[in-house]
Amino acid sequence: AKTATTEKICLFEEFMQVEFDDRKALENDLRLAVERGEFELLYQAQVDVMSLDLRGLEALARWNHPTRGQITPNIFIPLAEEMGLITELGQQILTIACTEAASWKRPLKIAVNLSPLQLQAPDFVQSVVSVLDKTGLPPTRLELEVTETVLLDDRDGVVEILNELRALGLTIAMDDFGTGYSSLAILRDIPFDTIKLDKSFVRDIAENPKAASLVKLVVDVGTSLSKTVIIEGVETKAQHESIRAIGGLLSQGFLFARPVKAAKLNFLHEADHHF
Ligand code: C2E
Ligand code: CA
Ligand code: CA
Ligand code: CA
Repeated sequence: AKTATTEKICLFEEFMQVEFDDRKALENDLRLAVERGEFELLYQAQVDVMSLDLRGLEALARWNHPTRGQITPNIFIPLAEEMGLITELGQQILTIACTEAASWKRPLKIAVNLSPLQLQAPDFVQSVVSVLDKTGLPPTRLELEVTETVLLDDRDGVVEILNELRALGLTIAMDDFGTGYSSLAILRDIPFDTIKLDKSFVRDIAENPKAASLVKLVVDVGTSLSKTVIIEGVETKAQHESIRAIGGLLSQGFLFARPVKAAKLNFLHEADHHF
């Protein structure tokens, strides 16, 4: 099975082959887009699998290109990383997410994705503090999602930064859990609060008892370590029923909700409205 990263790279290369002549143009456009702020966030629900209560929202970035239309993050995030623009773009995304979330009538938790390169910036923790100050979002409402790739270089440095972030009151999620090399060791060594089990583990959960056992294993380990476990990529009722049988966790996926603009989520703007 392909990992999320190789999937991403394949998608990127495919895109680049088709549009190779356009690459310079796309780079220029991305530079301008970061200057102009052409990015918006869609939000996808995270629900309790037993009650179906809404428990949080993940922010997913989109680039609204003036002529090419909406561009997926699988294209522009790697490009921004390559071009050295990700720190600034990441800061814009975090600012939009915290500004929007601070205005919601329901104090839901918001999860924001980080590029590993953002964590490497020497003033990253300070930049998070300043966004929280500026927007007034209580730190307890923010979750930052990182992947195991943050651990490839300076593990001790990363652990220290994650601890500083958690000391602010926010939480850290390990995204795409299970797709990296060091899954079990990171449970012991890396300070984080939430496990987001990669969608590849869910695909055949309803048909394959081994797949279900593996998900149950992660849920049990996570729970015993007092972590929140979120199952990603739930698309069918059968998958949902298998996950319910395991119990005690959160799910995210097209079955419950697609990522949508905050403006479409009425319950965020009206008091006393239930999901
Ligand atoms: P991710 O963080 O793993 O986000 C989940 C992706 O799975 C999203 O794709 C979401 O739309 C999609 N998804 C949600 N439910 C389902 C489902 O039931 N089935 C399937 N097949 N897919 C589902 P999206 O929005 O295209 O984002 C792709 C990736 O781009 C994200 O993967 C994340 O790695 C990255 N990304 C998105 N926004 C940001 C951002 O603001 N900053 C950074 N650094 N990366 C971002
Ligand atoms: Ca991913
Ligand atoms: Ca994520
Ligand atoms: Ca993920």
